[in-house]
Amino acid sequence: MPPPTLWHPYAQMKALPPAPKVVGGKGAWLQLENGESLLDATCSWWCMIHGYGHPRLIEALKRQADTLCHVMLGGLTHDPAQQLADALVRVTPEGLNHVFYSDSGSVGMEVAMKMAVQYQAQRGRPEKHRMLSLMRAYHGDTSGCMAVCDPEEGMHSLFAGFLPKQHFAPAPTAPFDAPREAVEADIAALRSTLERCHHELAALLMEPLLQAAGGLNMTSPHYVQAARELCNEFNVLLIFDEVATGFGRTGKRFAAEHAGVTPDIMVLSKGLTGGYLGHAATLATSHVYEAFLSDEPDHAFMHGPTFMGNPLACRVALESLAVFEEENYLSKIDTLNAMLRQELAEDASLRQDSRIEDIRVLGATAVIEVTDAQSLEGVQAFAREHGVWLRPFGRWLYTMPAYVTTPEEMHRITSAMKGWFAFSKL
Ligand code: PMP
Repeated sequence: MPPPTLWHPYAQMKALPPAPKVVGGKGAWLQLENGESLLDATCSWWCMIHGYGHPRLIEALKRQADTLCHVMLGGLTHDPAQQLADALVRVTPEGLNHVFYSDSGSVGMEVAMKMAVQYQAQRGRPEKHRMLSLMRAYHGDTSGCMAVCDPEEGMHSLFAGFLPKQHFAPAPTAPFDAPREAVEADIAALRSTLERCHHELAALLMEPLLQAAGGLNMTSPHYVQAARELCNEFNVLLIFDEVATGFGRTGKRFAAEHAGVTPDIMVLSKGLTGGYLGHAATLATSHVYEAFLSDEPDHAFMHGPTFMGNPLACRVALESLAVFEEENYLSKIDTLNAMLRQELAEDASLRQDSRIEDIRVLGATAVIEVTDAQSLEGVQAFAREHGVWLRPFGRWLYTMPAYVTTPEEMHRITSAMKGWFAFSKL
């Protein structure tokens, strides 16, 4: 066999078994070349919120392709880019009035960080040029993003010497529904980090409520509110990375809404286009935007990815927003949430299983955290035999299904997750 030409992500190519070959998809299902159908429990890294082959999204893409596939946004504009900017300003938390496009979640975060640093410099505080991130954070794989991912548990420690040094506060530990008193210790830890290093901080960045790739660590809206207050107190911008949490994943359209908080900068990707094309939006408040208005040409925001505002991506994002609203996705997410609670979080046999450390559910997200990653060895093959595509990582077996997943399909996913613990006990 010649060596493979296709290099897969996060995979040791030396030992990689042939990957299942996908030839199509419909709703929450993937169709494989060998005739197998697999129910996708993770909707392709959490982005295919409408599932596969959605007729309205496909039609929007086809119509746009007939008109204009791409044009640079440098010096030119077009309807899809303008209409999506208006729509995003309408649906996101009050005060986020300006939209800067880019092509992926990582680049959207790079844009946010660069914006924060330049904001501080143009407000006369050039010494505030570092980021404060949280342990267990994941913000992407580009260099700037790697530098704000958890430096210990994350996968980027090899690059420590190459990356700029940023600051980290402890990951919050209080659960989503904790009363304010139970969140005080997390808030105090954040405060003491800010007290130590605020003089050099441009921004605090966080995945609000749900640290996704860092092990689906969930926290309380009180923590998010306190982060807002602390940022105001210490003159530090607050950046929300809603790449994973945006568009319904936590049960509201944006995680920020649980806390009633507007960040200074917010990043969206993944569900933005319903997963049908790679794109991202970095939104800023007027307060941030106005720091870039000047008679000095070099006070402009010097950034411009080739594919920013791509018409196909903007058009499909507009259609995705329309479907989300017209088909009342938030109620679909509520239904999935009730099932995940009942069938996983409240399941007696799972709760008694000594291999399981915690079961957490928020919106259309559920995770079973085990004490030892070895307890999950073999679960993917087991689920596949039951027609379900799961992709656990580390000590976390999770589902983040498409919102079009029916109750029967959701039940099939939770049964595969539960079934594994019954099967592997034998
Ligand atoms: N931020 C968060 C919270 C993410 O979950 C991800 C991707 N998993 C990213 C940023 C990076 O997005 P992308 O893979 O599109 O670069």
